[in-house]
Amino acid sequence: MYRSHNCGELRIGDVGKQVILSGWVQRIKNRGVLNWVVVRDRYGTTQLVFDEERSAADLLEQSKTLGREFVIQAEGTVIERESKTQSMTTGDIEILVTKLTILNAAETPPFTIEDETDGGDDLRMKYRYLDIRRNPVKNSLIFRHKVAMEVRTYLSNQDFIEVETPYLIKSTPEGARDFVVPSRMNEGQFYALPQSPQTFKQLLMVGGMDKYFQIVKCFRDEDLRADRQPEFTQIDCEMAFVEQEDILNTFEGLTRHLLKEINGVEVDKFPRMLYEDAMRLYGNDKPDIRFGMQFGELNEVAQHKEFNVFNKAELVVGIAVPGANIFTRKEIDKLIDWVKRPQVGAMGMVYVRCNEDGSYKSSVDKFYDQADLAKWAEVTGASAGDLICVLSGEKDKTRGQLSALRMELAERLGLRNPDEFAPLWVIDFPLLEWDEESERYHAMHHPFTSPKPGQIDLLTTKPGEVKANAYDLVLNGNEIGGGSIRIHDKETQALMFDYLGFTPEEAKAQFGFLMDAFQYGAPPHGGIAFGLDRLVSILGGQETIRDFIAFPKNNSGRDVMIDAPAPIDNEQLKELNLKLDL
Ligand code: ASP
Repeated sequence: MYRSHNCGELRIGDVGKQVILSGWVQRIKNRGVLNWVVVRDRYGTTQLVFDEERSAADLLEQSKTLGREFVIQAEGTVIERESKTQSMTTGDIEILVTKLTILNAAETPPFTIEDETDGGDDLRMKYRYLDIRRNPVKNSLIFRHKVAMEVRTYLSNQDFIEVETPYLIKSTPEGARDFVVPSRMNEGQFYALPQSPQTFKQLLMVGGMDKYFQIVKCFRDEDLRADRQPEFTQIDCEMAFVEQEDILNTFEGLTRHLLKEINGVEVDKFPRMLYEDAMRLYGNDKPDIRFGMQFGELNEVAQHKEFNVFNKAELVVGIAVPGANIFTRKEIDKLIDWVKRPQVGAMGMVYVRCNEDGSYKSSVDKFYDQADLAKWAEVTGASAGDLICVLSGEKDKTRGQLSALRMELAERLGLRNPDEFAPLWVIDFPLLEWDEESERYHAMHHPFTSPKPGQIDLLTTKPGEVKANAYDLVLNGNEIGGGSIRIHDKETQALMFDYLGFTPEEAKAQFGFLMDAFQYGAPPHGGIAFGLDRLVSILGGQETIRDFIAFPKNNSGRDVMIDAPAPIDNEQLKELNLKLDL
């Protein structure tokens, strides 16, 4: 028996017991005649004591050969500690050791295995197995497990069943590049790894499994942004015989359940916002509604004066930043520099100080009088003490820039409280979006999303205006889930592929199986997928998803621990009929 108890378990009531503990050496305090060793496992830490008076002489000497992270087994008696500590759950007791076994010696770790470590990101990733011994990472993984368990419990109780779908498939378009896998047995042919199980879950609906879910890996070969992983996990769900309303209700239920069980928070409202309104009021399809600062469009009140910058802009739009009139001139100048950074891309920023006495002072006083500025304040909802920030230019770009500024200011002003949860459905997304590069329309969600009833005809006349039966669930400014009601008849699906520029042959080659299936009694269906990594990090109150993933990739998509991706040898290439041309 390696252990009778774990290292986080023993309390004052256990004094007198004979116990065996196993774990890693966390700390050693060697006082010559006395040696304290703190041993750690997943459950906590316990202090072991060896001393001249009470321990056999060779045992004390043996304890002095230990080093950090040695794996040990200690047998002994639980005794009351003289100097108790609150900092350990076992802080009232210690173990007077009678037998010590070194199960495995250890090299000195390259960084300290403490909550606050001296190891940088790269080092921690290279030795991730050591990093996982640290409380912050360990606790994040345990937290993720709890969330996954609650998801499974909730959905199972609602009659969902978890079905696995294959990883070696062919392209499922979610708008990214595929990772591909060469097939040895089928010369010159490749599998694609799923960007999502989208087509399979729809086929499960045709198969009659009317409530499906799966906690599943998805693979997308995208340019990596901070906090995006090439492989990530979805809670993927699909239901048959449902309308949008049924899906929204079911997954509001899931989200409510998670917030309650994991965070102890009851949320009653899941407001719904049209995509159009989200863009107009927040410049963003995933608005953080924990705070206000809604956009006020100022074209009517700010154009047709002498200020040409505004006159020639497609959109003039501002936000009232609460209490920000206290910003100094220097701070405002810095803010202007901030919006001009290439990442944000604004040409400049106009501001209006709303003074306590009801007067206004703006950076464009030359062109606008007090009555003009009062109108701006009215439109943006500014009151005395606020600062109005105004951007202008091409509509979509300007909205994006002001949205970035809104988030930045909210962050600086401490308005993004991680303990507050404000979910929101964004609904009625456009079906198609224009892609500048390829100069054509792409499916905004994916090609299986159904247009809103009665809008099919608009596809030929005003494709950009067709709304989809698609929805996103937003939590605190993050898209945590997205889905749609699907097309379930062959004709509409063929029409959709046609609009998206597939020839009938291409559509058949790529998605013939789905359209075939639709001929055999496909029920109306729809679904949603949540990004589990992000969801867990938000529920855990963290910005980054990395610590909630046991073995994450870095920003270049590398696993620096196992050193992948890596070349393969010629033999393997030959077997796969592949030749490199680098
Ligand atoms: N497959 C979609 C995605 O990965 C989700 C869905 O439509 O259910 O975004």
